[in-house]
Amino acid sequence: MNASERQTMEASAVTTQPEGTFPTGTGPEIAGPSPRHRTVGVTVGTGEGAVTVGGGAPIVVQSMTNTDTADIDGTVAQVAQLARAGSELVRITVDRDEAAAAVPKIRERLDRIGVHVPLVGDFHYIGHKLLSDHPACAEALAKYRINPGNVGFKEKKDVQFSTIIEQAIRYGKTVRIGANWGSLDEALLTHLMDENAKLPRPIDARAVMREAMVQSALTSAERAVELGLPKDRIILSAKVSAVQDLIAVYREVARRSDYAIHLGLTEAGMGSKGLVAASAAIGVLLQEGIGDTIRYSLTPEPGGDRTVEVKASQELLQTMGFRTFVPLVAACPGCGRTTSTTFQELARDIQNWIVTSMPEWKKRYPGVEGLNVAVMGCIVNGPGESKHADIGISLPGTGETPTAPVFIDGKKAMTLRGATLAKDFETVVIEYIERRFGSGARSAAE
Ligand code: SF4
Repeated sequence: MNASERQTMEASAVTTQPEGTFPTGTGPEIAGPSPRHRTVGVTVGTGEGAVTVGGGAPIVVQSMTNTDTADIDGTVAQVAQLARAGSELVRITVDRDEAAAAVPKIRERLDRIGVHVPLVGDFHYIGHKLLSDHPACAEALAKYRINPGNVGFKEKKDVQFSTIIEQAIRYGKTVRIGANWGSLDEALLTHLMDENAKLPRPIDARAVMREAMVQSALTSAERAVELGLPKDRIILSAKVSAVQDLIAVYREVARRSDYAIHLGLTEAGMGSKGLVAASAAIGVLLQEGIGDTIRYSLTPEPGGDRTVEVKASQELLQTMGFRTFVPLVAACPGCGRTTSTTFQELARDIQNWIVTSMPEWKKRYPGVEGLNVAVMGCIVNGPGESKHADIGISLPGTGETPTAPVFIDGKKAMTLRGATLAKDFETVVIEYIERRFGSGARSAAE
């Protein structure tokens, strides 16, 4: 089954949120995102790794390498790592001849090791030249990412933009037209600022910048269509580094068009700041039905793990109920009722065990990624929260009897105690997974 077929299966498995509310007096409004903004579906790549972005397909996770693309070994290793972590598209920098020359070799090496994730080439300033001079690169990439703010300047802009679009048409590739706050089309911005200044009541300069972002993306897309690139080969993005501006810009892009949309907060930053800012911005837009593919632009720690951005995208999509990737472990934050670290250790060990077991479980237990596990610290919320999970354990808090009730499918199933409690709980979890997702359960359902 290729990636596109997996997406189709996933889309049909997603429970449709009923619209509207219960009749007055019978219950609260049903929680859920707004219906997805309708966009034209874009297939990126061919064969096993192909994915569909937009057109109602599940929201796609993507990432970007930070290796020098001319370093073939390093780039192959990082693309493989990102793809194995779950990135469905991987972008690589194509900034000079050596990088463009490396791209077909990277594609070939990845295919040889069974990593078929589509590669996206990131071009700035000289994309037209690199794509023309390196046809094998143009062919090996599944998508070209260009920025209308730096594709060319003055009279050269249209020629260079047209050259890139012609290459995309020739090789049957997708193009992401990605406007960016940091490299906004100066000519367009100046024009809009001048027009605004003539108004009896000029609008705020920041609002003009937002409008310039929207127009930069939309007019470039329209130009690409005029040049012959079909709409089902165009994806738009308009990235800004401030959360409220980003939300405003994407709302407007969605309101004015039906191009497939790539969401991301540019320069989100490091650590918790980057995660929180990107999650807030992307989360609000997804909730409004906007966004077909997402990327977290996180700054890794020096030598840090690049796959964090993939995990962040997956966790956002899963916690918001759009897709499922890995069983979720709900754990309470702990408080003065948990003076020992037992429950923190158990929550961590269970989470790590699940993550490391997933590659094997995915093959043996289809659907296991939808499992919910709860690890709670004491009797206050423990039994209640554990009952909401598929399988939950409520550990003893300070002063409580040293026993841990386990709840399965909402009912108390047993009580664990003693030094082997963590191992015993793992056994209970794996038995549950086998019963519910194993081959026996599948044959019984057939
Ligand atoms: S479940 Fe118990 S230990 Fe956990 S935060 Fe609530 S009161 Fe504290």
